[in-house]
Amino acid sequence: MNIILMGPPGAGKGTQARHLVETRGMVQLSTGDMLREAKESGTEMGTVVAGVMERGELVTDEIVIGLIREKIEAGQGNGFIFDGFPRTLAQADALADLLAATGQTLDAVIEMKVDDDVLVARITARSTCGNCGEVYNDNIRPQPADGTCSNCGASDFRRRADDNEESLRTRLMEYYKKTSPLIGYYYAKGDLTRVNGLADIKTVQASIAGVLGN
Ligand code: AMP
Repeated sequence: MNIILMGPPGAGKGTQARHLVETRGMVQLSTGDMLREAKESGTEMGTVVAGVMERGELVTDEIVIGLIREKIEAGQGNGFIFDGFPRTLAQADALADLLAATGQTLDAVIEMKVDDDVLVARITARSTCGNCGEVYNDNIRPQPADGTCSNCGASDFRRRADDNEESLRTRLMEYYKKTSPLIGYYYAKGDLTRVNGLADIKTVQASIAGVLGN
């Protein structure tokens, strides 16, 4: 089963993808994570995308499609969760072609619906464990007082360079201009289901499980 999690930055796509990886053995393909890894390991491509990402603009279709192609062709696990991809119509078309070429299908597109006001609050309060990716929020789930991650015990908390109000404004604009048309695209194809991304994490997990079945 291959699915797309769609929604603006801060909708909770990464958190829900991690849960699906743990409970269903699916493979999370986050183009944002792949690009951040390239940036941190200092590859040529990583250096090219660093400034674009910090400003909150979209990286070229060519780069992200290349990253996804490698993963799909390597084909592993119990289906893919596309998280933060596709973000443009060209990427959506490329994904359809890549899946068809490897004899696979796209089984669901889940839109996580949230209010824009909530996104700003969520993102500016967000931090993650650099070791396991556990997500924290200064207001509703602060980092443990003993300074270690409650999931893995590491003490390497990070904030994303683009989780500030200015970049977020650009990221939201990019989402509404370039990515939100995909909602109509997948609706017309009959693939789209909407869930309430404002509910608490467990309720959202249950809504997604309802869409995916057992
Ligand atoms: P994310 O972690 O999904 O919020 O992505 C962080 C940043 O990586 C975005 O603001 C873009 O600069 C870049 N990025 C991630 N995925 C894509 C994509 N599918 N297309 C273009 N740029 C992307």
